Amino acid sequence: MSGGLLLIGAHVGDMDFTAGHLARLYAKAGDEVLFLHLTAGEGGHPGKDRGAYKAQKLAEAAEAAGRLGAECRVLGHPDGDLFASQGVALEVAGIIDERRPRTVVTHWRGSLHRDHANCHFAVERALELVSGHRPELWFADNWEDADGFKPDVVVDISAVFDDWLSAARCHELFRGGVVNFDYQGYYEALTLLRGKMSGTQRAAAFMRPPSVFSSPAARLAGD
Ligand SMILES: [Zn+2]
Repeated sequence: MSGGLLLIGAHVGDMDFTAGHLARLYAKAGDEVLFLHLTAGEGGHPGKDRGAYKAQKLAEAAEAAGRLGAECRVLGHPDGDLFASQGVALEVAGIIDERRPRTVVTHWRGSLHRDHANCHFAVERALELVSGHRPELWFADNWEDADGFKPDVVVDISAVFDDWLSAARCHELFRGGVVNFDYQGYYEALTLLRGKMSGTQRAAAFMRPPSVFSSPAARLAGD
């Protein structure tokens, strides 16, 4: 896969909604793309038991990835109990070693969802454990991970907007009615907003790791 894209999300859906368009751009350019979901997100449906919803989420993940020209893999960690353990980091590091992507996309740590923050820290640790390969790390623009999220990369996704929407709509959570949040409305509007920021029709924003030289701690240390 060397040169491709690896998207690592806490739950099935997270990366599809926030970076499925980027995945489609990579796939159309001939790069290999892998969605790695650390949990299925099986605990997120108020009206379905975890077993039934997990089966549904696995099917949705495969269908969405297929529409984007990507592969997907779902690890068996329990939704709501994902930890940034050395074990999870080693598992992720093994997949980074195997795939050797050019770019890794994951959650920003400033999240209201503990699984998302733990996914972030597990991926950061995994990148430290990988030897001799340094992919670029981007954080996705997720409504749950907005604390301190400062977009500094904006990608024109106008050409793949329809493909992204078709893939995201494989997910019941995105189409609506599972929880009291309008995922489709929010993420569709977000592509317009980011488009306005960059003078394109539709765009997606990402954040790169903040430089240690611009962090408050570094400024204090330098005073
Ligand atoms: Zn999530």
